[in-house]
Amino acid sequence: MIPVSRRWLGVVCLITVCLCQPIEAQDRTIVVSGTVVTPQRVLNKAWVVIKQGRISRISEEVPKEENAIVVNTNDLIFPGFIDLHNHPVFAVFRRWTPPKPFNNRYEWRSSDEYRKKVGTPGSELQVDEQSFCDLTQFAEVQALTGGTTSFSGMFPRRAPAAPLPDCLSHLAVRKLDMHSGFYLAEPGHERVQNVLGVTPRDLSDVAADEVVRKLTGNELDLVLIHVAEGAAADLESNLEFGLLQWRALLGPRTAIIHGVAFGKNDFRKIRSAASSIVWSPRSNMELYGSTTDVITAFREGVSIALAPDWSPTGSRNMLAELQYAAQLNKDRLGGFFTNQQLFEMATSIPARIARIDDKVGTIQQGLFADLFLLRGDATRPFDSLMRATPKDVNLVFVNGVPIYGDPKLMGTFSVKTEPVTVCYETKSLNLDVMPNGRLSDTQGRISQRLKTYQLELAKLDDCSN
Ligand SMILES: [Zn+2]
Repeated sequence: MIPVSRRWLGVVCLITVCLCQPIEAQDRTIVVSGTVVTPQRVLNKAWVVIKQGRISRISEEVPKEENAIVVNTNDLIFPGFIDLHNHPVFAVFRRWTPPKPFNNRYEWRSSDEYRKKVGTPGSELQVDEQSFCDLTQFAEVQALTGGTTSFSGMFPRRAPAAPLPDCLSHLAVRKLDMHSGFYLAEPGHERVQNVLGVTPRDLSDVAADEVVRKLTGNELDLVLIHVAEGAAADLESNLEFGLLQWRALLGPRTAIIHGVAFGKNDFRKIRSAASSIVWSPRSNMELYGSTTDVITAFREGVSIALAPDWSPTGSRNMLAELQYAAQLNKDRLGGFFTNQQLFEMATSIPARIARIDDKVGTIQQGLFADLFLLRGDATRPFDSLMRATPKDVNLVFVNGVPIYGDPKLMGTFSVKTEPVTVCYETKSLNLDVMPNGRLSDTQGRISQRLKTYQLELAKLDDCSN
């Protein structure tokens, strides 16, 4: 039993957005209520209890938690998205509309227009430490506005063992190949590695042997590698699969990014090797006019994750890519996948592929509290997700810490915040987890740097729905 006065206080907190005194989020139990999407079923009204960064309990009855910070909502509560294919440092670039469809990525990568508008400034800006921090912070916030809590792709220009800049010492979004928060903070402990490609242009023999050595020595859980990113008829893209096998990189801890040129036999071999696919439809369609044959891949039993690739030709974040995939599924795939399956391609499936499903990817007791709250219809959560815009994202937790969201909800916690305009609405960003400083300062510095290339900074949001 708890004293009546405290119990009364708890009830007050549960019937409104809690107006209790804001206190340190990390030190207090947090209780969040809404429609909770669990792997087993959707709980129409439930409470998620967060302690020390983890989900300690999910209850369909009001939990009795003393001294808890309570956020009572009618929102949908989803696990945070896990993005296995991104190039976050390119998020600052505006959309690049290809002048024509290409046969493969080597064609556009070597085009003058791409180099001028994206490639050259993208490479040069990463070299400077402050710029690298700015690019990363911008990408993290852009990801958070769409419910992403983990992403990857900081590699290759920044080697996995390179010193971690101070600006990345905190967790805003988990950087799976640089600083996930799952292991020791020093570089060299992460278990996900990005390899840009399989041909000698992107991967030397020495580097390939080193990756194989790490896989053999159980130092890695996942290698992400771009393979066959080109039209089905493209010879070079077709040869890459053979090269992947020849380099001994087709195995259970490999996820092939793209595979646009793959056919049934390729998917069969991928399934036999227990490898996976990461599907990025928007970027594929814009660059090549076609995308991975995911229906055949699915029928052959291949695990498929969904991810946005990057802002210039893909989507700004996971929410936008999920919605692009849902529309493509309706228009071109005959509605083969359900909206729930697409949602799983963005959460539990990438978690399993990266072997972090015991940590994140679903809302379950014992996992880290990486989740987000979304305005929507409680009776149709997955349909709501496909129609949502970033303004509907009300609160994002990473590691049980409120990172971004509606100012009223963020005001429940004792954190320093910065207002951020997203889809014409003011949201709040937790400045305590932004060691790089205020986002507005970051945006100012990047804008200045981009001016030297006659370029403008990309918008943070995408309000197209
Ligand atoms: Zn890519």
